[in-house]
Amino acid sequence: MKIAFFNTKRYDRRFFDAANAQHGHDITYLDPRLEVNSAVIAAGHDAACLFVNDDGSAAVIEVLAEQGIKHLALRSAGFNHVDLKAAEQAVITVCRVPAYSPHGVAEHAIALMMTLNRMTHRAFNRVRESNFALEGLLGFEMHGRTAGVVGTGKIGAAAARILAGFGCRVLAYDVYENDELKALGVEYVTLDELFAQSEIITLHCPLMPETEHLINADTLAQMQDGVMLINTSRGKLIHTDSVIDALKTGRVGHLGLDVYEEEDELFFEDHSGDILQDDEFARLLTFPNVLITGHQAFFTRHALEEIASVTLTNLTQLERGKPCPNTLASW
Ligand code: NAD
Repeated sequence: MKIAFFNTKRYDRRFFDAANAQHGHDITYLDPRLEVNSAVIAAGHDAACLFVNDDGSAAVIEVLAEQGIKHLALRSAGFNHVDLKAAEQAVITVCRVPAYSPHGVAEHAIALMMTLNRMTHRAFNRVRESNFALEGLLGFEMHGRTAGVVGTGKIGAAAARILAGFGCRVLAYDVYENDELKALGVEYVTLDELFAQSEIITLHCPLMPETEHLINADTLAQMQDGVMLINTSRGKLIHTDSVIDALKTGRVGHLGLDVYEEEDELFFEDHSGDILQDDEFARLLTFPNVLITGHQAFFTRHALEEIASVTLTNLTQLERGKPCPNTLASW
C-alpha cells in the first residue's frame, strides 16, 4: 500500500522502517503536519498516516478523499482529532493503535507526581550549583495518601495499580467498573466524592463532549486545598484559566501536565528561539509547583515499536480485505 506519512520525525522513520521490513508498504515520509493546505500532497497514495496533532477534520477529509485516500491510519490511541462521521461519508476507513503503552503513560503520570512531590528537578539544579540547602524541597509520603483516578481503562488501571503499590488509598471513577482493580482494594466512588476526598487526582479518561473542561472552576472548588492534579490524557480536560486561578490561591498545590489545551501550536517542535505567544502557557511556566512535559508520556522504545507494528499491520489487513479489529466506526 502507498502510505503518505504526515508529520514525520526522525524517530518515526527509524521505527516504521524497521517494522515495514515485514510488510513491504511503500511509505512516503512527509515533514508537514496534515491540514487543509497540506492534504493535497497525499495525492497518489492509498492511505494517510496521522499523529495526534494532525488535523482530521471534515474539511481535511474532503481534500484527502479527492486525492484518492481510502484509509486513515492513526498512529495514536486517541481519535478526538478525526471527524469519524466525515470519514464514513467519504468511504474512508479509520484505524488506530488502541493500546501501545498503557504502562509507559501511567508511569509518566507517576513520574510527574513524584517529581512534583520530591522536587528532584529543583534538587538536580541546586546540587550542580553546590547548593545543598533543603529549604523549599519538603515533600510528602505517597504511602497513606488518597489518590483519585478518573478513567480506569488501560492507562488508568495501570496508574491505579502503581498507586496501590505505593500504599495509597485509591479511589476511582469510571462509567464502567473494573473488577480486577476492585479486588486490589480500589474503591469506585462518584466523581463528586473523588474530587472531595482525593489529595492526588490523575486524569485518564478520554476527551469527549462530556469530559471537556471536566476540571473547571466548579469542580476545582470541590477539591481539597493543595490538591495535586495530574493530566496525561488530553489538554482540554482542564480549563486552563480556572486552574491558573486555583494555583494562585493555593487550592491546587501541584500541577503536572503532559498535555495542554492549546498544545497543537507548541508541542513536538523546537520553539526555543521563538517568542512565546501563549500568555496562559507562559503564566503556567511561572509557578514553581507546575511541571509540564510536551506530550511525551507515550514516548518509550516499547511504545514506538508497538505503534509502528500495529499501524502497518492495520494497513496490511485493510489492503488484503481482512477484518481489522482496530477500525473505528462513527456509529
Ligand atoms: P481506554 O479507552 O482504555 O480508557 C478510557 C477509560 O475512560 C474507559 O475505561 C472509559 O470507560 C472511561 N471513561 C469514558 N468516559 C468517561 C467519563 N466521562 N468519566 C470517566 N471515565 C470515562 O483509554 P486509555 O488507553 O486508558 O487512554 C486514556 C487516554 O489517555 C486517551 O483517551 C488518550 O487521550 C490519553 N493518552 C495520552 C497519551 C500521552 O502520551 N500523553 C498516550 C496515550 C493515550
